[in-house]
Amino acid sequence: MPSSYTLARGHLRKTRTVSAGSARFGDGGFTLIGGPCSIEDEVQMESVAAAVASAGGAMLRGGAYKPRTSPYDFQGLGDAALPLIAAAARRHALPSVVEALAETQLPLFAGCVDMIQIGARNMQNVPLLRAAARTGLPILLKRGPAATLDELLCAAEYVLLEGNENVVLCERGIRGFDPATRNVCDLGGALRLKELTQLPVILDPSHATGRRTLVEPLVLAAAAAGLDGAIVEVHPDPERSKSDAAQAIDLATFARIAARVRAVRAALAGEEAYAVAG
Ligand code: PEP
Ligand code: MN
Repeated sequence: MPSSYTLARGHLRKTRTVSAGSARFGDGGFTLIGGPCSIEDEVQMESVAAAVASAGGAMLRGGAYKPRTSPYDFQGLGDAALPLIAAAARRHALPSVVEALAETQLPLFAGCVDMIQIGARNMQNVPLLRAAARTGLPILLKRGPAATLDELLCAAEYVLLEGNENVVLCERGIRGFDPATRNVCDLGGALRLKELTQLPVILDPSHATGRRTLVEPLVLAAAAAGLDGAIVEVHPDPERSKSDAAQAIDLATFARIAARVRAVRAALAGEEAYAVAG
């Protein structure tokens, strides 16, 4: 009997690498994605895109349709947000990723974004997984807050079974008992995923912790530990973010994280070169 996620194990794949526009995941690099929780306006997107590009970030994120817990909170600009992220990304030669909440939104994604995010709340929304897969765009699949790794890999299997090989997995925190952090950042689980699958695995420390002070150290931990990248929420004026303000970092912090990721990777590469030479 095949395992419940034969394709997601990835041992049959010719390459581990997933491409989204010019961004590569799983090629041995560390792919840093930055952008706001919600796309708010043109000025915000322009300043974030410029900062992500000049820091050496690989990709721009932004939410158009926001899956908010309360229906009274900002729900995102909706369809009108897609041209805003598309234009900012194009101006700065960055590929972009946006979450789709419903199948009906997918026709708007083609030609506007380079990757579709399936968010934590929709990890097991099978019709949405299948429809997103059939667009042919690469999929950023987030782990549900109460999903096991097996369930995450089975969700990826639905995408792969549609003939879409381009799936990147994302650990974004699982539900715990302690409100001191928004979720429990399961770094061990993310590393265990890398033993279970060849698919690239990235970390979202923003939603995992809900606290901007913890974003930088966790991105550095992910880079040092050998994950394939990270996605972080960045805002030109974090306190004024229309959603997830407490976890948004500013543009300077994003630039420092990108530089320190390079330093961590160079230190580890130097260590390896030293070990080989010695
Ligand atoms: C997001 O990326 O803005 C988001 C809502 O993420 P998650 O699905 O992980 O909660
Ligand atoms: Mn968010």
